[in-house]
Amino acid sequence: MEGRSTASVIIVGGGPAGLMLAIELGRRQVPTILLDDKPDTSPHPQANATQARTMEHYRRLGFADEVRAAGLPADYPTDIAYFTRYTGHELARFALPPARRAKDIVRQLSGSWSASELPHRCSQMYVEQVLKRQAERLPAVSLRYGWRATGFSDDGNGVTVAVERCADGRPATLSADFLVGCDGPRSLVRKTLGIAYEGESGVVRDFMGGPMHAVYFRAPDLYDMIAGPRAWMYWAFNPDRRAFMAAIDGRDRFVFHTQLAPGEDGDAISERQATALFFAALGAECPVEVISRSSWSAGATLVAERFRAGRVFIAGDAAHLFTPTGGLGYNTAIEDAANLGWKLAAVLGGWGGDALLDSYAAERQPAARRNTAFARRFADSIGLYRATPNIEDETAEGAEARAAAGAYLGAHARAEFDIPGITFGTRYDPSPVIAGDGSTPPLDSAHSYIPTGCPGGRAPHLWRGGERSLYDDFGFEFTLLRLGADAAEGDPFARAAAGRGVPLTVVEIPGDEARDLYGADLVLIRPDQVVAWRGNRTMEEPAEILDRVTGR
Ligand SMILES: Cc1cc2nc3c(=O)[nH]c(=O)nc-3n(C[C@H](O)[C@H](O)[C@H](O)COP(=O)(O)OP(=O)(O)OC[C@H]3O[C@@H](n4cnc5c(N)ncnc54)[C@H](O)[C@@H]3O)c2cc1C
Repeated sequence: MEGRSTASVIIVGGGPAGLMLAIELGRRQVPTILLDDKPDTSPHPQANATQARTMEHYRRLGFADEVRAAGLPADYPTDIAYFTRYTGHELARFALPPARRAKDIVRQLSGSWSASELPHRCSQMYVEQVLKRQAERLPAVSLRYGWRATGFSDDGNGVTVAVERCADGRPATLSADFLVGCDGPRSLVRKTLGIAYEGESGVVRDFMGGPMHAVYFRAPDLYDMIAGPRAWMYWAFNPDRRAFMAAIDGRDRFVFHTQLAPGEDGDAISERQATALFFAALGAECPVEVISRSSWSAGATLVAERFRAGRVFIAGDAAHLFTPTGGLGYNTAIEDAANLGWKLAAVLGGWGGDALLDSYAAERQPAARRNTAFARRFADSIGLYRATPNIEDETAEGAEARAAAGAYLGAHARAEFDIPGITFGTRYDPSPVIAGDGSTPPLDSAHSYIPTGCPGGRAPHLWRGGERSLYDDFGFEFTLLRLGADAAEGDPFARAAAGRGVPLTVVEIPGDEARDLYGADLVLIRPDQVVAWRGNRTMEEPAEILDRVTGR
């Protein structure tokens, strides 16, 4: 990295947000440099679930199957199970299918789960490895692990970024048209811009509200000690040691998260003490080999007050911080990247206007507020519900307490882990680059998603026979759907798009099914699969519509 080196976009941070953004840009041949201060992708498990909408983005980019194959064995159930202690009483279980069945099941579903992909429950560290492999294949992308950004300036025409090699502190300077801080909760980019997080942190709950300690470990005998079918997520619910534990590889690796009691200090905890915390939740002891540990804080509901300053943007945890209930932090980060990537490429390619870049914050900041609020609700639901002192008693009262807890936790599990409304229902109605038609979108709900062609939301999905999703027919950039037998003429749109350099694929779908689903003859879909406009005849000039949705 000698002297000045230039790119169109510099990304600081190679977590999910940064890697996904690099892929979005690289797929569009945008010269991109990604810096990450670690030697490689994260070796810690971190997030545990890839939501269905994220999987749909991975499918759009062509690697959903590679992600689906990562993590737990294909036939491993992805149940969520609640116990007093892992070797004690099972209280509740929400049974979910293994990855092998995801493709078949999703083709049978409709309504709220009308989708091209189901969620995939797998550790973030495996997903990051896939994202890195994908980014590495793109000639426009240069991944620079082991390099840290130390500062930057934006002179209005471009950004200059000061970097140093982590191994020896060797400095260098890079320049680019745009800088994106995907640099996590302690974001140098956000802090340098003077942008604060807004919201609340430090919320105290019985669980998921306070200092947490995470232990990633191998325990070859553990499955033999826990009764019942295998699960993806194991929760311990008792008066003194609450915890959740995710299965990592289905063989012997697990990650255990517990909340520390007052007086327990995460930084001071020894490996022996950390193992003892796990044994308390297990209700027994077994051979354990600790791989890594970390401390983190549960109880944040934070969104940055701005997502853009001039030529600099923030995305992912740099822009919003979640309590991980609902599994939304990483997934919201991926949607930030899916939203920002095509917009940066459009502006750099000359067919998008600056208003398109402003629309990133206009769309994603409310989405972050929405998603962090849902996560907070789940944290209250699980974290404020406390175990009664007699829950482990082998008495009639103990059994009653377990039955009551089981009923509550079973209902909570369905509420937290069956969330099509959250994953598919993000909407951008007030966005300046959405051409609304005056129709009213369905109410926002965590558990119900109503497919609608009302501009501003995810394009409704349908299967086109066999494994072919409607989404597979979309172009990589804008798509104009001509729907139904008497679909309105698409040529004026195609001509207007060609005249403006807007990449547009026209897709004809005869028959009533898609026409009825979208409620119009013509539908303009954005590169991130959001409905930008719909109409029966082009009452407005296609040119005006295209100018609006590309921020010109
Ligand atoms: C213990 C734990 C458990 C979690 N569990 C869940 C969960 O169950 N579900 C869920 O959805 N989310 C969970 N999360 C949150 C999830 O991991 C994050 O939301 C996700 O990682 C955000 O991705 P990101 O790319 O925005 O940031 P990060 O993954 O934090 O990536 C930021 C990257 O930037 C790098 N970086 C930072 N500063 C610089 C710099 N100056 N120069 C170069 N590189 C820099 C960092 O090294 C890092 O690699 C958990 C997080 C933790 C810590």
